[in-house]
Amino acid sequence: MNLSIVIPLLNEQDSLQELHQRIAKVLKNDYTYEIIFIDDGSTDNSWDIIKVLQSNFPEVKGIKFRKNYGKSQALNAAFAMAQGDVVITMDADLQDFPEEIPSLYKGIAEEGMDLISGWKQKRQDPVFTKNIPSKLFNAVARKTSGLELHDFNCGLKAYKKDVVKSLQLRSDMHRYIPVLAKNAGFVNIKEQKVQHTARKHGVSKFGSSRFVNGFLDLITLWFVGKFGHRPMHFFGAAGTLMFIFGFLMVFWIGASKLYMLYKEVPTILVANNPWFYLAMLCMIFGMQLFLAGFIGELVVRSNREASTFEVQETLGFE
Ligand code: UDP
Ligand code: MG
Repeated sequence: MNLSIVIPLLNEQDSLQELHQRIAKVLKNDYTYEIIFIDDGSTDNSWDIIKVLQSNFPEVKGIKFRKNYGKSQALNAAFAMAQGDVVITMDADLQDFPEEIPSLYKGIAEEGMDLISGWKQKRQDPVFTKNIPSKLFNAVARKTSGLELHDFNCGLKAYKKDVVKSLQLRSDMHRYIPVLAKNAGFVNIKEQKVQHTARKHGVSKFGSSRFVNGFLDLITLWFVGKFGHRPMHFFGAAGTLMFIFGFLMVFWIGASKLYMLYKEVPTILVANNPWFYLAMLCMIFGMQLFLAGFIGELVVRSNREASTFEVQETLGFE
């Protein structure tokens, strides 16, 4: 199979039919393809519409979550099932253009790219709540990842099959897929300008929590990318430094106390010396950081599960 189109959706009943029509028109007879709709816990008629589409068009497949697990888990579910040599993700809200698919496909299948990320150069979203914050995010993501992309979180992306099979999206990490791909060793990544239009039906599914979550995920990503497989190198180093600092301070306090006693100079109690408490704090805290490193190493070894979704039903898979 040439192509898997992956479409995560939450309450997008008014867009699905038109979206399917446009995709089918673009792909016509030129490709062997599947369209995988992932219903991420919709409470409207989205799943019924997907069922109707599936019964009329065998290339349509559906995955239904029992509740809303988020876009990242929806992508995880579809990536696990996708059979196409090239996988293209797009949003269900008609903001992305199916007409971009052929050129994205070509970039992967013929030019040998691992990942092509869409770049909504003329983004049609609210300026203050989305466009400006997103510019900031992209700048930080560029700095921390070293990937020169303008639009990390574009829903429209194309992948070589290997890439999606190796990606594991935790939390809301769909925002930083190019970084994950790069961390996994897929270096042929580029961006391609794509068209974008305002939402026709329904409302955006990400509220203002997107900023807090997006920022925290970015920190996690930086940390995991750097120390995810070797937490001891971070916690161990920080812990050892603190412990040594505390230990030297205690040593100094103890030694000077003994010296004073030896010289029979009157002196204050060690416990009345404020530095003593700072030294204790450093030693205890340093030890804890060190232990956190050990626990981190154990966790890395024992816990390889990423997906937390549960599929309720599937349609159209052999
Ligand atoms: N979506 C999803 N699960 C969620 C939130 C969103 O599957 O928990 C889908 C949504 O239906 C759409 C895509 O992810 O197809 C992008 O969401 P949205 O258009 O709301 O994001 P925005 O364009 O506002 O960034
Ligand atoms: Mg949208």
